[in-house]
Amino acid sequence: MTYQNAEIAKIAEVLKSRIVEGASLLRSPELKSLFDAIKTIDPSERSAYGQEINKLKVELQDLIDASEDSQLATQSPIDVTAPFDINTPKSKRPQLLSVEQGSIHPLMTELELVLGIFNRMGFTAVESRQIDDDYHMFESLNFPEDHPARDDYDTFMTVEKDKNGKQFIAPAHTSNMQNRVLRDNKANLENGEPIAVLLPGRVYRNEDLDARHEHTFHQFEGVYVDKGIHAGNLLATFKTFLSEYYQQDVEIKSQPFYFPFTEPSFELALSCPFCQKQGCSICSHTGWIELLGMGMVHPNVLKEAGIDPLVYTGFAWGCGLERLVMLKYGIEDIRHFESAKIEFLRQF
Ligand SMILES: [Zn+2]
Repeated sequence: MTYQNAEIAKIAEVLKSRIVEGASLLRSPELKSLFDAIKTIDPSERSAYGQEINKLKVELQDLIDASEDSQLATQSPIDVTAPFDINTPKSKRPQLLSVEQGSIHPLMTELELVLGIFNRMGFTAVESRQIDDDYHMFESLNFPEDHPARDDYDTFMTVEKDKNGKQFIAPAHTSNMQNRVLRDNKANLENGEPIAVLLPGRVYRNEDLDARHEHTFHQFEGVYVDKGIHAGNLLATFKTFLSEYYQQDVEIKSQPFYFPFTEPSFELALSCPFCQKQGCSICSHTGWIELLGMGMVHPNVLKEAGIDPLVYTGFAWGCGLERLVMLKYGIEDIRHFESAKIEFLRQF
């Protein structure tokens, strides 16, 4: 394209040599100076001059688009997760401050550690599910219909029922897997081997959100069944795990609690890993931190899975992963984990 006006022709050459700069060229001082000069142009030539500047703008825009298209064509594969349409010109896309590689979410790194420790103690892992039914969430766990303890779980469930009258439930604990793994691994017991399973999974509760409560969090359930298993085995197993996970000798303390699916049931507290029981703000100056619920598998739960509770006994626990990790790193707010805050994630 040629330009009659010498100044426009000169600037056109300069700007066309800088097409890779993209849309910012259309706001460049050179182009602005041409517009500013309009008022100094002889009125009889002003219209032709104005048309030439507009022609230059259109030419630059076409060249910029063509250049971006050819860049797009050489960029492959397409990132379907990108937060913009593939036809969005480069200049209009969100800009990264720097190019950096992603990393594994801290919760998953810590879960791998947990799985590794229990794996060395003979547990195999089975991942929990994201959607379930009333039978596995409550009934098989000795919560009859209308049992008041159901209210403690603030469960999300579908209002509509399917043709069999079933509602779908977003699991509120990983115990929903107990009946399944007890049934699936029953043969172990007949072969003289224990059932030893770890059940990590995401769980959901309709909580009022604050620094210690999230609607979505993670638990890992442990289930162990064999002949002659007693609460001492449970406490020793979990104490070993905690000492290994926190890389220091921790003390534990249990107190009676109630869950429908364990009998007896306990709440377990560990000695504060920050102050060695001297008292600090993290343990509310008590030296102890309440961590999780556990107990001996209720005979009705074993019976429901086809295991004779007069021959076999077992233990189970459900531990919140976030709580464990928060204590390890001194994280003050559980909501950081799912917040997608880059500043938080970069610290791991
Ligand atoms: Zn403390």
